[in-house]
Amino acid sequence: MRSEIPGLIDIGANLTHCAFKHDFKDVVAGAKAAELAHIILTGTDIASSEAAAKLAGESPHFFSSTSGLHPHSSQNVTSEDFARLKVLLANPAVVAIGETGLDFNRNYSEPRMQRGVFEAHLELACTIRKPLFLHQRDAHSEFHDMLSAFRDQISGGVVHCFTDSLEALRDYLNLGMYIGITGWICDERRGQALQDIVNYVPHDRLLIETDAPYLLPRTLRKKPKSRRNEPKYLTEVLSIIAACRNEDANWLGMVTAKNARTLFNLDARATATFNFMSR
Ligand SMILES: [Zn+2]
Repeated sequence: MRSEIPGLIDIGANLTHCAFKHDFKDVVAGAKAAELAHIILTGTDIASSEAAAKLAGESPHFFSSTSGLHPHSSQNVTSEDFARLKVLLANPAVVAIGETGLDFNRNYSEPRMQRGVFEAHLELACTIRKPLFLHQRDAHSEFHDMLSAFRDQISGGVVHCFTDSLEALRDYLNLGMYIGITGWICDERRGQALQDIVNYVPHDRLLIETDAPYLLPRTLRKKPKSRRNEPKYLTEVLSIIAACRNEDANWLGMVTAKNARTLFNLDARATATFNFMSR
C-alpha cells in the first residue's frame, strides 16, 4: 500500500530535537522512502525555531518550518525572544506561527504567563499573515475564548495534536481551524475517544502529523528498537485514521497533503526545483 501513496506531508515533526542528532540523514532518507514529500519542522523556542528555519532554507523542497514559543516555556520568554521571533517570521521558509497556545495539563508555566505569551503570538499573527500552529491541552475554554477574539484578523491555523472532546472539535471547526491528528489515535487506551470522533473532521480540514520524536504509534506491527518516533511512521497514523473513518488511506493521504499545501501556502514557496511529487 505504501508505494501507492503519493507525497504525504507531515505537518509537525521536531527534527531539531537532540534525539535525531546522530542519524538525521538516515531519518530523512527513511521519510522519503515512506513516500513523504514534505515535512514541516516544529519550532518550540528560539533555538529550535532558528535551527528549523535553517534546515528549511537549505532544503525548501522537503522542509519548511514553524517559529514560536511553546506554552511550557512561557515563564522564560523575554522581550528579546519576541524580537528574534519577528525576524524568523519574516523568513519565507517559515510557514506558520507556533507552536503556541495553552497547556494546563502540567502547568510547567503559570497559566497567567501562558496567556500573555499566547496573546502576543495572536497579535503577531494579525500582522504577519501566516497561519497559527496551535497547541491546546486541558485548556479548551480559555484557549477558545482567546482564539475567538482574534478569529477575523488571523490567517487560519491548525490545532495540532488534537486530543480533546467532540465539543472542542466542533468549536475549532466553527472557528475555521484545521485539525492535526498524531499517533495519539494509535493508542488503544487513551486514543479511544479520538478514534470515536475523528470522522467528525471534514476531509478538507484534516491534517496528519507524527510529532516525532514523541508519540510513537502503538499499532506498529514491527516494533522499532527504540521508542523514538520518526516521520516515516506517518503512514501508520494515516492508515489508522483512514480505518476509523472508513476511507481509503491513499485518497485520504492525498487530501491531507492538499490541505497542508493550502493552509501553509506551500505552493507559494515554489521554485523551479520545488515539486511535491518528485523525491
Ligand atoms: Zn504541541
